[in-house]
Amino acid sequence: MANNFLKISRLDQFLETLRLFGELHAPTVSESGVHRFSPLEDPDELHLDYRRTQIPPKKYLFPFREEILHYGGGGYREGHSSAGDLVIFGVHSCDLEGIAYLDRVFLADRPDPGYAARRSRLTLVGIACEPDDFCFCTAATESASCDLFLSAGQDGYHITSYSARGSALLSAADHLLEERAAQPSPAISGPCYPAQDPELRFSDHPLWQKFASTCVSCGACSVCCPTCYCFDVREYPTLSGGGTRIREWDNCLFATHGEVAGANFRPDRLDRLRYRFLHKYCGFTPLQGMSSCVGCGRCKEFCPVDIDLRELTVAPEKVEP
Ligand code: SF4
Ligand code: SF4
Repeated sequence: MANNFLKISRLDQFLETLRLFGELHAPTVSESGVHRFSPLEDPDELHLDYRRTQIPPKKYLFPFREEILHYGGGGYREGHSSAGDLVIFGVHSCDLEGIAYLDRVFLADRPDPGYAARRSRLTLVGIACEPDDFCFCTAATESASCDLFLSAGQDGYHITSYSARGSALLSAADHLLEERAAQPSPAISGPCYPAQDPELRFSDHPLWQKFASTCVSCGACSVCCPTCYCFDVREYPTLSGGGTRIREWDNCLFATHGEVAGANFRPDRLDRLRYRFLHKYCGFTPLQGMSSCVGCGRCKEFCPVDIDLRELTVAPEKVEP
């Protein structure tokens, strides 16, 4: 059916239909009041009015810690955690674009087996959002990097399919949908980050000093970022001769991240802050062909000392040092 419309009164039934395609996860609130993606046991737990979760959905594809190799007894086996079918409902455009970015990293020339297995069994249902003051994007937009996308209408949602799996979902939910003329689709966002002044990037401009004087190197801005994927690989051998190899998130804001063979290339906080900025906005964005900042605003909201890297995108002379 073209122009698919789901009345809000049928949302619970629609969620039940999604369960046919895998374990259903969605935005909920923890006991401590933190928005998160978690299994949706009861539709009443759904919080579609959320602005952003603390941890983005990258956690499903790129787990915080996973065993990637187990060896011993003269052999080895790859240890990637098994993945079941998973449906994530209610993902905002920025997080969908974040996953599209990680796809470029982990599924390019040499696909990461664990990521590829999990990605192949993941169904993404996006939903439109309302940007707030933390967002780096310029407008609420619709992302095509999903299977289905829901845009709010007067008493429900216009639903657009962007994949064969999305079409299968719509077929399964056909009895819940009605035909209603779709609203004009908003433009899909381009890179959300404006150009920086090249003079600022490698300089000792007071702005860098200002940030470094308050940054506590907690790494929250990287942990919560949907496109950050630095990891470390550690070996844990046992006395019996076997062992395991673990991959876990690393963080370029940590002092240990720049350590190589006894030297540390970024011992100072200023160096690490500047490294993250240069790496993210000036290095990897052109390399991957899409912005490595998807504008989610988490790094601003969750920074304990309110550092706002958007200040770096305006001309230095306009910024109070
Ligand atoms: S840099 Fe900040 S605003 Fe951009 S994607 Fe990462 S957490 Fe979101
Ligand atoms: S969240 Fe803020 S304080 Fe923590 S490392 Fe990032 S910029 Fe520094």
